[in-house]
Amino acid sequence: MINNITKWLDKTAEKYSEKIAIIDGERTITFRELRYKALCLAEVIVKKGLFKEPVAVVMPKSLDMIVCFLGIAYSGNFYSVIDVKLPLARQKKIMETLQPKLIITTLDMENEEEADVCHYDFAGLNLLCEEKVMEQRERTCDADLLYVLFTSGSTGDPKGVTITHQSVMDYIDWVEETFEIASEDSFGNQAPFYFDNSILDIYSMVKTGASMYIIPQSLFSQPVPLLQYLKENKITTIFWVPSALIVVANLRALKKVDLKNTLKRVLFCGEVMPNKQLNIWRKNIPDILYANLYGPTEITDACTYYIVDREFADHEPLPIGKAARNTDILVLDENNQRVGNGEAGELCVRGTSVSRGYYKNQKKTAEVFVQNPLNDKYIEYIYRTGDLVKYNEYGELLYITRKDFQIKHMGHRIELGEIETIVSGIEGIHQCCCVYDNEKKRIVLFYKGETDREHMICEMKKYLPQYMLPGKIIMIEEMPMSANGKIDRKRLQEMI
Ligand code: AMP
Repeated sequence: MINNITKWLDKTAEKYSEKIAIIDGERTITFRELRYKALCLAEVIVKKGLFKEPVAVVMPKSLDMIVCFLGIAYSGNFYSVIDVKLPLARQKKIMETLQPKLIITTLDMENEEEADVCHYDFAGLNLLCEEKVMEQRERTCDADLLYVLFTSGSTGDPKGVTITHQSVMDYIDWVEETFEIASEDSFGNQAPFYFDNSILDIYSMVKTGASMYIIPQSLFSQPVPLLQYLKENKITTIFWVPSALIVVANLRALKKVDLKNTLKRVLFCGEVMPNKQLNIWRKNIPDILYANLYGPTEITDACTYYIVDREFADHEPLPIGKAARNTDILVLDENNQRVGNGEAGELCVRGTSVSRGYYKNQKKTAEVFVQNPLNDKYIEYIYRTGDLVKYNEYGELLYITRKDFQIKHMGHRIELGEIETIVSGIEGIHQCCCVYDNEKKRIVLFYKGETDREHMICEMKKYLPQYMLPGKIIMIEEMPMSANGKIDRKRLQEMI
């Protein structure tokens, strides 16, 4: 029985031994080498007597990190990625919560209070006795943690989301089947490894034998070279945050590089994908698969999906679709009852994908991982996402906004996301985001692009009631972005 994701690697390394698993700039690693190096690292960890303990991985994004993740998993421990670009104070907070027993790093770090520091040296990794590692792995079960990812909010205490092997295996099985991923595929990875979107790329590669290209970060601000990279490397599948796809569409890069014969799937997740930019992608590369995936870190990356199967006008919202396999979605109103058609409610998730809560934080866990209010017969946890959604006339879920972005303005309840959907459909708007100015009681719209202000207001008035019109409109050169590559709303809030 496959109860630990490293058993996938055992099989893949046997079947596709000399096939390239990861391409990281000039460096490559085959599946055989990946397994070997992971086992070597696992042996080091096993020898330290660690089992079911947190191991922190502190290094810049590279194929070495994946060696670490798999090595830690082989050893029966779980990993947590510390983003080296995070402010030191925040890194410290994460370390305080995680209290790793071991830190694996390429940086110059001293031993911490409780943690051993292991300096990672790829070339120096040699295996002495595979059996010892396998013995320890046999003691694991699928309910054991694979990783703890800390959420990236820029204020407050970071929360460590715990995810088990079982959740990742269930998710990746679904990804493989739904999107028909096979060994011939190649992923163009954008997601940082501390961000849950990377789970799809990494573990699809491990399971199916597909190759994974770690795209150099600098290319994401140069759309034409970025697309050339995809073409030259015959990338078949990308799973990016919408912001990355938006930049490519806005700068008309798709006209300059023809990806029709190489790219097969464009998957995205993490924030709203505006139809205007998606339409540009679809027009330039028709007849491939586009899918909108939705989900927070707490449910193992994605729990709903919509495979784009019809035309949308630029100002229309793109559905987030329906529940992924083996996942149940409950849309609950304020009285914890299922909403009726067209009514907004909070999206709640039930199933294997749901996290075991926040690491060493029972209080926060109890707030959002709660007993299913529709079940008073036995213990059954659901995760309350804090996202507002509704069903459309096709029975598909539509994302409205986060509950926190729902405002009360002039007595009206307003979802800022609805304004954004309309504005992003206006010609000349490249990107937009609304925040609420609590002090002055007005909606502030930030946008990037070139459009006539009068025309913009006129277009907004066509679709929005007076009370939803922004009280202030600010054009900006660049949208501030969070570390994950999404629009940074907190920074915008500071700019009003
Ligand atoms: P994270 O935990 O960083 O992956 O962020 C999860 C949040 O991103 C969700 O709770 C949503 O608010 C938002 N999100 C994720 N996917 C989508 C999507 N496809 N459309 C709109 N918002 C999304």
